[in-house]
Amino acid sequence: MLEERARRERLLAAEAAGAAACRKCAIGSQRRNNVYGEGDPCAHVMVVGEGPGETEDLLGRPFVGRAGQLLEKMLAAIGLAREDVYICNTVKCRPTEPGLRGPKNRAPEPQEMANCRPFLDEQIDIIRPKVLLALGAPAAKSFLGRDFQITKMRGRWYEGPLGIPLMVTFHPAYILRQTGGEMTAVKRLVWADLKAVRAKLDEPAAAAPEEPEQAALFDGV
Ligand code: SF4
Repeated sequence: MLEERARRERLLAAEAAGAAACRKCAIGSQRRNNVYGEGDPCAHVMVVGEGPGETEDLLGRPFVGRAGQLLEKMLAAIGLAREDVYICNTVKCRPTEPGLRGPKNRAPEPQEMANCRPFLDEQIDIIRPKVLLALGAPAAKSFLGRDFQITKMRGRWYEGPLGIPLMVTFHPAYILRQTGGEMTAVKRLVWADLKAVRAKLDEPAAAAPEEPEQAALFDGV
């Protein structure tokens, strides 16, 4: 297993170097750091978000800042540490648009996701996770097409690349934008999706882990 881990690490490092040199999209020349991805190269779960934000661009790491903290809580709720999974995005460079105080985040454009898809496909091929977890509508659409509607179609299993089971749930940044009862309602939906991921990881063992009463698990971010 150590040899296999080292092999995957070498492959991922080579791909990351390729992504760092890539300028296929305009955002490749505008970003500060390429955010290729990080985590366990032998992970059973691969988390795919939409794209790096400002803090990620600054640090060159995916899912840092408040959304990253909430993602870590979400993973912990199903018994996974951040180090247990592999985390990346559909695009490796921060998509921006002009804002009053400088560049601001925007969702990646379909062409940018298409340009970057070979990097994502390689990551999936190298890691071969048991489960893909897409966070947010852009990530879901990159796998399931532009007609995917996250509010109606999340929470089910889909067939992802290489036949890997794919679950879609809300992006942590979206959860953080909700308030009051709406935030609680979204957290409940996310918790249901995460439980499905846990159950998939536990197959064929039927025993499910104890289910703590939810919503509260993600509090305090
Ligand atoms: S987003 Fe992806 S394809 Fe586009 S420039 Fe960055 S690394 Fe290259």
